[in-house]
Amino acid sequence: MKVALITGITGQDGSYLAEFLLEKGYEVHGIKRRSSLFNTDRIDHLYQDPHDPNQRLKLHYGDLTDSMNLTRIIQECQPDEIYNLGAMSHVKVSFEMPEYVGNVDGLGTLRILEAVRILGLENKTRIYQASTSELFGGVPENKNERGFYDENSPLYPRSPYGVAKIYGFWITKNYREAYNMFACNGLLFNHESPRRGETFVTRKITRAVAKIALGLQEKVYLGNLEAKRDWGHAKDYVRMMWMILQAEKAEDWVIATGVTTIVRDFVKMAFSEVGIELEFKGVGVDEKAYVTACHHKDFQVAIGKEVLSIDPTYFRPTEVDLLLGDPTKAKEKLGWVPEYDLAGLVKDMMDGDVALMKKDVDLLKAGHEILKQVE
Ligand code: NDP
Ligand code: GDP
Repeated sequence: MKVALITGITGQDGSYLAEFLLEKGYEVHGIKRRSSLFNTDRIDHLYQDPHDPNQRLKLHYGDLTDSMNLTRIIQECQPDEIYNLGAMSHVKVSFEMPEYVGNVDGLGTLRILEAVRILGLENKTRIYQASTSELFGGVPENKNERGFYDENSPLYPRSPYGVAKIYGFWITKNYREAYNMFACNGLLFNHESPRRGETFVTRKITRAVAKIALGLQEKVYLGNLEAKRDWGHAKDYVRMMWMILQAEKAEDWVIATGVTTIVRDFVKMAFSEVGIELEFKGVGVDEKAYVTACHHKDFQVAIGKEVLSIDPTYFRPTEVDLLLGDPTKAKEKLGWVPEYDLAGLVKDMMDGDVALMKKDVDLLKAGHEILKQVE
């Protein structure tokens, strides 16, 4: 039985990857952080009974800032594959805690690579490093002749997150070259799902739209509506992480859809899933969105209602304006075929959040209070 170790198993990608690897018959080890409350919501459905000897999912307490802990866990589980997905993954937050992000997202990668080397597992353990399109920084002149970022595009990160991840990228490449380790970077463009963290823009939008449609929230405040992102579905992207480690040769790979969409259009698509049409008026910080029609019988929102405003708190000191990736190498060399397009992704996320928020409506109807967690 193959053994995999996932850092960041409690996150969006970690949870889908754990599911995927368990289905493939792997024994899956995951590192979770100690927290004052349970923090395993995304993987609880995979981890019914920790006392069951046949349980193929095993969790270890740990942290990417603690090299002794990482070395011990790797020694204990002797993994065939390590997926280093653990990170402080929020770009805006990284401006507020840059040192921590450098430690976790940058040095954390080194700690994993060095642990494998110290333990003499260089020839056994294959390593996937969660690299990111943030390394390209959206610099227009660095795109290839077709207008995309690919494996050969120059890197120019625009946030402490991007700068920390560039260290992770280069140290992975360096260990591959210096010690002949099977260590690969996946330069993944944004990928989302119903399990996406609630403060990333797509999930913030789908949650808010579901709540607005059900009468649980008045409006949503967003930042830069002009940014463009290449959004895929996390389920498609974790499959690719695995394919990268099954390849004949250790290499770096761009994973993207090859389609870019402006944030404002994602907002329109999400509202349209619940039958609500919008009109945007104003420019910059004065821009707002109003309801012009509501077609869905289950949702009633007044025509003319203001449902979106701009809050400059969400602007970043330096922004990545446009991301658009070229997945040709992954498609041609590894045969990667994504199942979801953007419309499918928006539908999956909206279905998930409408179902979630309907539970809140039921709780309210039964006289209970609901948590008001608004970003
Ligand atoms: P999430 O934010 O959903 O998950 C991050 C995971 O890392 C969580 O399990 C979190 O634990 C864990 N973590 C955070 N800090 C530490 C630490 N100090 N030690 C150990 N674990 C830690 O991210 P995603 O699943 O979306 O992304 C997975 C990886 O891919 C990340 O490295 C991210 O930067 C990268 N990436 C993501 C993209 C995307 O669009 N989603 C695009 C490109 C790259 P906890 O649950 O306790 O917070
Ligand atoms: P990122 O690409 O990793 O930074 O992913 P995010 O989902 O956090 O942000 C995507 C884009 O949406 C960025 O250009 C943000 O500036 C923009 N954006 C606009 N409003 C918001 C908001 O309210 N929250 C977040 N997170 N991003 C926003």
